[in-house]
Amino acid sequence: MIVGVLLPLPFNEPFDYRVEGEAAPGDLVRVSFGREVLPGVVWTIGKSSNLDDSKIKTIIEKFNLPPLSAELRKFISFVAQYNMAPLGLVLKMVISVRGVFDDPKMNVMYELSGKTLAEAKLKNSDARWRVMDFLKFAPFNRQEIAAGAGVGQSVIKTMIDAGVLRPVLVEAKKDFSVPNPVFQKVKLTDEQEAAASLLVSEIGNGFNVTLLDGVTGSGKTEVYFEAVAKALEQGRQVLIMVPEIGLTAQWLKRFEKRFGVVPAKWHSALGNRERTDTWKAVAEGRAKVLVGARSALFLPYRNLGLIVVDESHDQSFKQEDAVNYQGRDMAVVRAKYEQIPIILSTATPDLETVVNVEEGKYDVVELHNRFAAAVLPEIKIIDLKQDKPLRLMRPDGSGSEPSWLSPTLTEALKENLDKGEQSMLFLNRRGYAPLVICRDCGHRIQCPNCTAWLTEHRKANRLICHHCGYMVPIPQECPECHSPNGLTACGPGVERVAEEIKYRFPLARTKVLSSDFTTNFQEVSEVIAAMERGEVDILIGTQILAKGHHFPALTLVGIVDADLGLMGSDLRAAERTFQLLSQVSGRAGRGEKKGTVYLQTLYPENAVLQALAANDRCKFIELEKKTRRILKMPPFGKLAAVIVSGPNQEETEKTAILLGQNAPNTAYISTLGPAPAPIFMLRNKYRYRLLLKTAKNIKIQDVVRDWLKRVRVPGRVRVEVDIDPYSFY
Ligand code: ADP
Ligand code: ZN
Ligand code: ZN
Repeated sequence: MIVGVLLPLPFNEPFDYRVEGEAAPGDLVRVSFGREVLPGVVWTIGKSSNLDDSKIKTIIEKFNLPPLSAELRKFISFVAQYNMAPLGLVLKMVISVRGVFDDPKMNVMYELSGKTLAEAKLKNSDARWRVMDFLKFAPFNRQEIAAGAGVGQSVIKTMIDAGVLRPVLVEAKKDFSVPNPVFQKVKLTDEQEAAASLLVSEIGNGFNVTLLDGVTGSGKTEVYFEAVAKALEQGRQVLIMVPEIGLTAQWLKRFEKRFGVVPAKWHSALGNRERTDTWKAVAEGRAKVLVGARSALFLPYRNLGLIVVDESHDQSFKQEDAVNYQGRDMAVVRAKYEQIPIILSTATPDLETVVNVEEGKYDVVELHNRFAAAVLPEIKIIDLKQDKPLRLMRPDGSGSEPSWLSPTLTEALKENLDKGEQSMLFLNRRGYAPLVICRDCGHRIQCPNCTAWLTEHRKANRLICHHCGYMVPIPQECPECHSPNGLTACGPGVERVAEEIKYRFPLARTKVLSSDFTTNFQEVSEVIAAMERGEVDILIGTQILAKGHHFPALTLVGIVDADLGLMGSDLRAAERTFQLLSQVSGRAGRGEKKGTVYLQTLYPENAVLQALAANDRCKFIELEKKTRRILKMPPFGKLAAVIVSGPNQEETEKTAILLGQNAPNTAYISTLGPAPAPIFMLRNKYRYRLLLKTAKNIKIQDVVRDWLKRVRVPGRVRVEVDIDPYSFY
């Protein structure tokens, strides 16, 4: 029998192999390919190449693993088609766990050999009979036999030596504790109850998308937990996708409180052993609830019953890597193939989701109130042109420093400190300063590999490129004019704001939270825990602060530079800023005391900031919708980015120009570019961008495919397609 085996390599087609015996689509097999030995999956039955039969290799072995389901295979094909990625690379996301295909670890267990006590010349005894009884239905190891039959090890040893018990090798499987749907039910408010019962009613009833739209602090997690419980009661598996699994310590605690155990986890930092155990437990249906990053969407669930996408607006669900895809959207597709419900939970849905609700494609349940006594915070705009930060004397009298906090915000921080309440300052910039410049010669320190300035990280004593990770120790003198004290930090990062807080409030307990090259998740969890315990007065951080934390005693949030995100020119800059600032603001006043948010800006009239201050999401959405409709941008049109990159500028530029000359342009299709990308050089590669925009009803993938076919691309030049692009760097 000849079958087509799809391999985890950048190809779109399976390769022919011979199978001795039976094989069915979905079977996982090991084959040799070139000089390599690889796992693959039987994709098609029958021969598809015109290779001579004698040239077709035989598969090495068929793995003793559950086959990939038809639903999963359809999903893999869809993801490849839609995102214009090679089929094999999408498969690779499913079977990338090396350990799954290694020989499994075996445990020695014992079973009854069939030889009676009499035949073995052993006397009857109660203890021996209990052992025989205990092993009637399944093998166990020595400890288990001792505990289960209530006998000593010597009894067991005698029976083994006499041949009444014989050893068997059984695959060692890690236990995944099973969440208990009724472990600790939570009493929901009427509003929550109504939302929950709707979500619960969808479980087991086929495909459906519901937006769980609730203001920050309304208890969305408690509400969707009810749907999780229902799926568990039906014996189904649940996938919960979260933006950053490193930040879920609080969430995990709540899950454990509700269901009695922690769920299985899936993310990039897992070791091979854990990955292997988890992959197998998911495939065999032993792991019931899995919480994971976007990559968890590609696991081979045996019996998936529900998907939840928590903070579904979050941009981290968009992957920009070997395969570009939007995890939230692909999760909806997977739910459709599996015929199960999916919940998108957020306080700030993206426009695509909003429009899907309006068009009736998605259902919606809303939570308008914060839980218990909590009310939404008041948001005050500070005009930095009027309310100018004053220069700050260094405590040692050695001169003054620029300041980043307006007198109003400084005063508010002081009052909050005096009251003993917690504050948070948000600035979406890591490190100490985004740029180092020489006062004597004007030289700006740039990354040697990218068109980007190096960011000063004073705590780590490094200059770091945030695009490629290049780092050097902070130089003592200007690398250009060698002036010994010319170098100056320009602009603020979170470390610098923390320094200002130290100068102004030396007694305040401050912490910095930033997802950095220099911090790890352990440190981050510790800071969050300290904040929860009330051991931090002022927490200063980057967008990591926006991710769903619940600090009941936090009453003041200061947004140091509300304009930062608005300066980007990309399509989603306004939406992203609105979401980010709403989420950060949403951390304030989640307990009994009301919160206040101060938003520092140079453009107080800006419509995004006005809508934020008025707590008027609808107004923002209407505005955003209008703009995108006029520009025919998603969701009212489709976009694809084409990025051309290569080590040789001339060759790369030529290819980009050629693509531009061959670009489709009709009444419904337009192409912009090529233009040098905003980060023109990235990791030593020159980059050009083109942007294809089509009407909504056009299959943009087909247009791109047809277009790219017309241009010959030299070997060293890479042409990458990003459907529904999010970043425009
Ligand atoms: P959201 O995700 O909507 O921002 P959360 O789910 O984090 O809100 O809920 C905010 C806080 O209120 C959490 O500490 C949560 O445990 C608590 N909470 C919400 N609903 C209830 C409830 N019905 N009973 C007890 N605590 C609740
Ligand atoms: Zn200089
Ligand atoms: Zn760089």
